[in-house]
Amino acid sequence: MSEIEAQWGRVQGRLRSEFGDAAYNSWLKPLSLQAVESGKVCMAVPTRFMRDWVQSHYMDRIRDLWQAENPKLREVEISVRASVPNGSDEVVAHKNGAGSNPQDMPRPSESARSSDDEFGAPLDPRFTFNNFVVGKSNELGYAAARRVAESATVHFNPLFLHGGVGLGKTHLMHAIAWHIRQRDPGRRVIYMSAEKFMYQFISALRYKDTMAFKQRFRAVDVLMIDDVQFIANKNSTQEEFFHTFNALIDHHRQVVISADRSPSDLEGIEERIRSRLGWGLVADIHPTDYELRLGILQQKVEALGDAEVPQEVLEFLARRITSNVRELEGAMNRIVAHATLIGRPITLEMTQDVLQDLLRANDRRLTIDEIQRRVAEYYNLRLSDLLSARRARTVARPRQVAMYLAKQLTTRSLPEIGRKFGGRDHTTVMHAVKRIEELMCSDASLEEDIAHLRRLLEV
Ligand code: ADP
Ligand code: MG
Repeated sequence: MSEIEAQWGRVQGRLRSEFGDAAYNSWLKPLSLQAVESGKVCMAVPTRFMRDWVQSHYMDRIRDLWQAENPKLREVEISVRASVPNGSDEVVAHKNGAGSNPQDMPRPSESARSSDDEFGAPLDPRFTFNNFVVGKSNELGYAAARRVAESATVHFNPLFLHGGVGLGKTHLMHAIAWHIRQRDPGRRVIYMSAEKFMYQFISALRYKDTMAFKQRFRAVDVLMIDDVQFIANKNSTQEEFFHTFNALIDHHRQVVISADRSPSDLEGIEERIRSRLGWGLVADIHPTDYELRLGILQQKVEALGDAEVPQEVLEFLARRITSNVRELEGAMNRIVAHATLIGRPITLEMTQDVLQDLLRANDRRLTIDEIQRRVAEYYNLRLSDLLSARRARTVARPRQVAMYLAKQLTTRSLPEIGRKFGGRDHTTVMHAVKRIEELMCSDASLEEDIAHLRRLLEV
């Protein structure tokens, strides 16, 4: 590593510790070192919006830190450099002229359009429909996403995709954007995280530029906001999001939202917004099952080309790494990298050895949250009901089942389990466990329910 790179590494370390991980990851991590010439450091970011933000918020500190490292440096310059395929790193396609939209939403002028590239977020080229493996747990989400991508008219609005981490929500949203971009480059699609939406909004407020902000969003054909749970408890952002959302829906523009839970379970988001989010199609993506995991691995292996991964290794991974697809992919990449590095074929033994830590973590990965989710789903209840104080049998019994399973399948103590169930006392949990044990002896259908849930949870 060159001396300059080492200095940059230290500057980055300082920035991270001074501004915290969240700000660092959003704004500072994307900075790339381009060149150093005659006392000037040149760095680049992917969009103009980011450059402006970094310049107005972090520039002084960046300059000071560089100078502390290297007193010869007098100047720091940040430029914009796109880095993703097709010459543009943004997900905004432009519509020329009036087009086929009957509504009279504001349309940006040519010059406004060119600056649209600052909006949105980069699309991952791997996240296409072709690369998405469909199984029972995600078929609804997949079908809905395809429908949105393929039709020119709006069938359900919004499409609300929800499910746990690493189950393919972002993948499907990017796939929609790629598809539309390819099929109909005239449609304007914006994809961004709810977090970025918030930063854009805050910056618009700061620069007294909220009119432009509103117009930009309201002139799109398809708006996708990822991880909307992020705006929980952020009231003015929520408010603005809701206005944008309503304006688009009223004008029959497609909106696609994702979150880690269903609309009704989004705590910290206003009731009227939650209910509006659930008006279209709500598609949940369930945790993967063994077959789907194996299918995803097989597809991955094919994509890798020449790497030879024995079937027994794939089956082993699919059985043991159950938490989410991201980890599954990570595990396979690790083994392949390891084998390439030491120049030996991949074996089951090597796999167990290389993945020791991950396998151990997956072993105790089953969480009370997951149990609660599964039980609520199984009995067709809302998660919030399961955790509520309601005593109706239809809710109380499933709650006891969930407590029982939490006791059986995790290493959590009774008080810990009680806390996870809306702050109940440990004696309540103890009672629930006993009660279910008793009932299982006399109630065959309950016994069956529990056997089924166990199978679901222990895959
Ligand atoms: P989420 O947004 O739900 O947290 P992501 O969409 O980021 O999850 O998915 C995590 C990783 O797993 C990505 O690399 C994605 O491509 C992959 N992935 C998830 N589901 C599938 C699937 N059904 N087929 C292929 N890859 C998948
Ligand atoms: Mg995601």
